[in-house]
Parts: sequence; structure tokens; C-alpha cells
Amino acid sequence: MFGFISITTLAQLNQQLYNRYDVYREKSLSDRRFKHEDIMALLSRLGNEFSVQEAGKSVEGRSIKMVTYGQGPERILLWSQMHGDEPTATQALADLFQWLASKDDGFDATRKKIRESLTLYFIPMLNPDGAARFTRRNVHGIDINRDAIRLQTPEGRILKRVRDSLQADWAFNLHDQGRATSVNGKPASVSLLAPPYNESRQVNQTRGDAMKMVRHIYNQLLPFIPGNIGIYNDEFEPRAFGDNIQKWGSRTVLIESGGYQNDWERQEIRKLNFVMLLSALESMATGSFHKLNVKSYYQIPKNSHRRLHELIITNLNFEGVIRDVAMDRREIDNDNFRYYYAEAFIADLGDLQTSHAYAVFDATGLTVEPGKLYNRIFESVSELMNTDITGLMKQGFTEFVVQQKADPFTVPKQMPVNVYSVLPEKERIIRMGGNPSLVFKRNGVVTAVLINGIIHSFDD
Ligand SMILES: [Zn+2]
Repeated sequence: MFGFISITTLAQLNQQLYNRYDVYREKSLSDRRFKHEDIMALLSRLGNEFSVQEAGKSVEGRSIKMVTYGQGPERILLWSQMHGDEPTATQALADLFQWLASKDDGFDATRKKIRESLTLYFIPMLNPDGAARFTRRNVHGIDINRDAIRLQTPEGRILKRVRDSLQADWAFNLHDQGRATSVNGKPASVSLLAPPYNESRQVNQTRGDAMKMVRHIYNQLLPFIPGNIGIYNDEFEPRAFGDNIQKWGSRTVLIESGGYQNDWERQEIRKLNFVMLLSALESMATGSFHKLNVKSYYQIPKNSHRRLHELIITNLNFEGVIRDVAMDRREIDNDNFRYYYAEAFIADLGDLQTSHAYAVFDATGLTVEPGKLYNRIFESVSELMNTDITGLMKQGFTEFVVQQKADPFTVPKQMPVNVYSVLPEKERIIRMGGNPSLVFKRNGVVTAVLINGIIHSFDD
């Protein structure tokens, strides 16, 4: 089915995994708000190279499964989505299942090595009740990752019991961090940590190995996202699972999936999760990480405390003052937490020369006007879609009215402009929390518009 591929170095393995990723991508999980039933469906399709058992139930009775693969002596425990709104690694684990179940694709030697050296124990979606509501905590409002000692959540008890019964050699704690997390002023697309097991952040054999593994993963990611990898906050958290599992003797690695340019659904980072997890497993299987130095862990840049904005417009001259404008975005969920739309808002105003953003637009020398409401009322969204919207944006129109109700969960994905069923009441202005539509002109010609936090530039 596939042409001959030659894999002689780890870098080549990573590149091949990256290049061929689409073959293994679990297509039933295409966005971030999938649910427990989606996981159950894909687990039910797994072949007999896997064993799937119930590890326990969530507060609301959802079955939390453990998937086992391989026959090797080293026991590797990987769990994801302990926080219900952090699904990136769950998707990557599903992709990993596809890869592990494949053959005759050039990766058989790597797969055999993993299968014979390691036994993998996966708990995908440890917090299905949280996932149902796309929220961090469990149904009782407890952050499972602060419940490692008190163990009041059934989900936390499952993780503790599984870890203890396996006496896992390795533990992979898989999370998401906000898009605002940064490293050296850039998005922290992946953050890594070998969590400390005490306040003074000492290094014993267990943590030392985890640090080497972190450095290994860092090295493997560098060709893909140089400058976007950081070390997560390494303060000891006595209630957290990662810190305690390190203390209990399993070499623990935290992976945080973060933001990436124009990757709202984190599908690029999902893909990199797939590559880095396989690269980590390969290194555990061969023992290659032992060659790395613990000291090299400390050379990895640390996450910054600064929030990264989505957009900064610099030197915006409006209402007689010059301001930089920082915009962020929030996601508004529908009733069943399956769909959302994004809403931009002004998060900061003023002299923002010390702030960073995914996108920067320099408004120096441009005149600024509020976006205009188009004077014709369209019958439906589809009628509007058949109009030359870009042409109208170039004339400064940013707001449109349709007679039929416009669904906010679908329309913004189809069109760059604001669409209303009822006329908006007043002109939007530049204020904290606001979401203005703006038109930028040079010599009377529209060069760009801002709509819902996104700049559409017409400069050639
Ligand atoms: Zn988390």
C-alpha cells in the first residue's frame, strides 16, 4: 500500500510519522468538543491487539476505559483529559491506536520494538463528565488534578488505583494549556515538565530519568516548532497527580498542548502529540534517553508569565488619541456543549509595547472609521453568501442584516463579516471588552478591515 521508506535515524522516524500522519488520524474526532460516546465508539472498533477494560465510572456513571497494548516488561501509563476541556491528547491517543493497529507501512520494526519492550496502558478521557460540559472540573466542581491526596473524585481514585496496581515505570500526564501561554514572547505550542516531587525540586533517579525524557521530547520537537516549546511552571503542587506520581516512583512527564498560529482546534498540535508520543515510546523501548544529560533539561526555555494576545493593533489613531489595541477571543458554547462560536473582545488598550500577540497589525498613518452597515437587507444567509462580500468589505461594509434568523454557531464559520437578524442598536466603539468593526484607509482607500478580532488586509 505504501512505497518503501527508509528509517535509519530518529529524526527520520519523526519526519515520516509527521508526513504520513493523515493515514493514522482518527477521523471521527475532528474537533475539540467530542464526547464520551465518541470515545466509546472508537474503542469498540479496536482490534484484538488491544484489550479494553473498564477502569471505573465517573460521578455520572460514564464508563472510564483502560486500553492495553503490548507485551513488554516496562509498564507505561498514559492518561488524557483529566480536565474535560483539554482534549488534544485524547485525539492523539486515538491516532496512536490507529498507528499501533497498522502494519506493512514501513513502521513495523518500530512497532515491534515498542510491543516487545513496553506494555502501554491508556486512559483516554479520564473526566468524561467534564468533557460533556466542555469544562475543566468534574461534576462536583473538583479539579481532579488537585485531588491526588484527598481522593474525593471517583476519577482521581481510578487514576490512583491504576497507577498503584501497575507500579508504572512511566507516567504521561497529558493536558492542554491556554492559547495565551507564551515562551519568549511566542506561543507555547507545547510545554513539558518533569514535575518535582518536593518543594526544593530535588532530582532523584526517577525525576532524573523523566528530565532526560523531557529533553529527548524537546529535541525531537525542535525541527517542527523551534521557539514554541517551553518548560511548564515547575513549582511543587502537593495536591496534583503529576507531582505525586513522580513521588510515588513512576517517572512522570507532563505534556501541555498549547496554541499555534490559526490552529483554533489544535489539530497541528494533535499531530505533533502523535509524533512526540511515538518518539518518546521509541526512546523508552530502546533506552536511548539514558544518553542524555539531566543538566540539559535546565537549558530548555521556561514558559513566560505573560499572556499572549490574539491580535495587537499598534498606533491606532481614533477619537483623538493614539492607542495600541489588544484583542482576545472567547468561545461561546451551545446548549449541549458540542458547538461554539468565537467572540473577540478588547483585552487591553494603551501603550502595549511590552505585550505580544499571535498577529500584529501596524495602523501607523492609517485613518480609522467604524465599519459600515450595508443598507440592503438580505433574505437569507445563503443569499448573502452569493454576494461579493470581499468587494463590499473593500468599500468599508462590515455589518450585514438578513431576514431569516442567522445561526451564530454556523454563520461565522462561513463568512468573515458580522451578520444580524435584528439591526444592531448602536455603533461599536473602542472600549475595554468591546468588539469593534473598524475600517482602515490610506489616502481614502480601504487597506484593511477588522471584524470580530480578525484583520482582513487588502494590501498587495
Ligand atoms: Zn489540565
